[in-house]
Amino acid sequence: MSPQILDNALGAVGNTPLIRLDKVAAQFGLKCNLLAKVEFLSVGGSIKDRIAKAMIEAAETEGKLIPGQSVVIEPTSGNTGIGMAMACAIKVISGAQIMWTHKGYRCIITLPNKMSLEKEAALRALGAEVVRTPTEAAWDSPESHIGRVAKKLQRKIPGGIILDQYRNVNNPLIHELSTGPEIIEAVVSTPSTPERPSSGKVDVVVCGAGTGGTVTGVSRAMKKTHNKECIMVGVDPKGSILALPESLNTADDGAQYIVEGIGYDFIPDVLSRDPVDVDSWIKTGDEESFDAVRVLMRTEGLLVGGSSGSALSGAEKWFKTEAGQKVGQTEGMNVVLILADGIRNYMSKPWFLSMAMDAKPSELAGQIAGVLKDE
Ligand code: PMP
Repeated sequence: MSPQILDNALGAVGNTPLIRLDKVAAQFGLKCNLLAKVEFLSVGGSIKDRIAKAMIEAAETEGKLIPGQSVVIEPTSGNTGIGMAMACAIKVISGAQIMWTHKGYRCIITLPNKMSLEKEAALRALGAEVVRTPTEAAWDSPESHIGRVAKKLQRKIPGGIILDQYRNVNNPLIHELSTGPEIIEAVVSTPSTPERPSSGKVDVVVCGAGTGGTVTGVSRAMKKTHNKECIMVGVDPKGSILALPESLNTADDGAQYIVEGIGYDFIPDVLSRDPVDVDSWIKTGDEESFDAVRVLMRTEGLLVGGSSGSALSGAEKWFKTEAGQKVGQTEGMNVVLILADGIRNYMSKPWFLSMAMDAKPSELAGQIAGVLKDE
C-alpha cells in the first residue's frame, strides 16, 4: 500500500513488519527461516493496540459507548490499557482531536502492582486513571484486578463499562482478521529464491499467551484459511497454568514470575482449549526469557520486551522437540515468532538495567578511554 495520510493514531495500529532473524537462526543451527512479527512497531507499542481498537470500535457500533458519558474500565497487564487509553484520548465529540483535554471516553485501568512504572506513566500521559491492585491476589479474590476491583468501579461509577478482553470475542477475532493475515501475506508475497528458499506458507507460529487472544486468533487464521498443517506453539511462563497438558504446569507452581503480559492463574474464556488450535505448549522461566531478550537486542537490533524473549526462548526449546528438529532442519520452512511489545515498557526494570548497563567493557571502550586520556 502506498503511504497515505491517516485520520488519527488509530490508523497506525498493526501493519507491523515481518523481519528475518538470520543471525539467531545461525546461532541455533537452524536451516529453516526464523521470522519475527515485530509488534512494538504498532503505534501504542504493542500487539494489544489491535484488540483495544477492535473492542472499542465494536462497542461503538453496538451503541454501547456514549462519548462524553461512558467510562471505559479495563483490567489489564498494561498493554491493552495503553491501546484503550489511546483510543479514549483520540475519540472526541466535536471531531477536533485535542490531546490532554480528552473529550472522548474517560478511561480507568486496573493494573497489578507487578506491572512496570513505564506502563503506568504511559497510561497517565494518555489521560487514563490507573488503579493498582495486589499482584498476589488470586483472580477471584476481592482485590483481583481481573475480577472485583474493575467490577466494583463499574457498578459505582456512572457510565462505567468493561469491554473485558478476557471474554470479548473481538480479542481473538482481530488477530484472526489482522495479525494472522498480515503474517500470511508477508510470507506468501516473498518469493522463494535459491539464496532464500521458502515453502511459500507459514509452517509454525510461536507466541506467548496472556488472555490467549493472539494464539487463538492467529491459529484460526492459519488453519482455517491458509495451512491446515501449520503448527501453533503457545508459550506459558513457569508459575502460570495456561499450558496443556496440565501436567506441564506443576514445575515451579505458584512461583511469581517477573515477565509481564503472559501467563495467568485462571483460564480466560478467549483462550482456546481445543488442541486443534494450539498444537504444543512450552513453559519458560524468567532468566531464559531475559537472556533471549539480550540475544534479540545484541544480534538482531530489536528492542523488545520480556515476553518476546519468552517467545524466542520457547522457540529454542521447541526446536529441540521431535517435530521442532524436523522443521528446524528443513530449508525453506517458515517459523514465525510473535514479539508482542518493546523495551520502552521496561526501561527501569532491574532485569533490563542490569542487562544494558553491566555489559562487559568492549575493545572500543578501551580505545575511547585512551583517546580521552590523551586530551
Ligand atoms: N506479551 C505482552 C507483553 C502482553 O502484554 C500480552 C498481553 N497480555 C501478551 C504477550 C499476550 O497476548 P494475549 O493476551 O493475546 O495472549
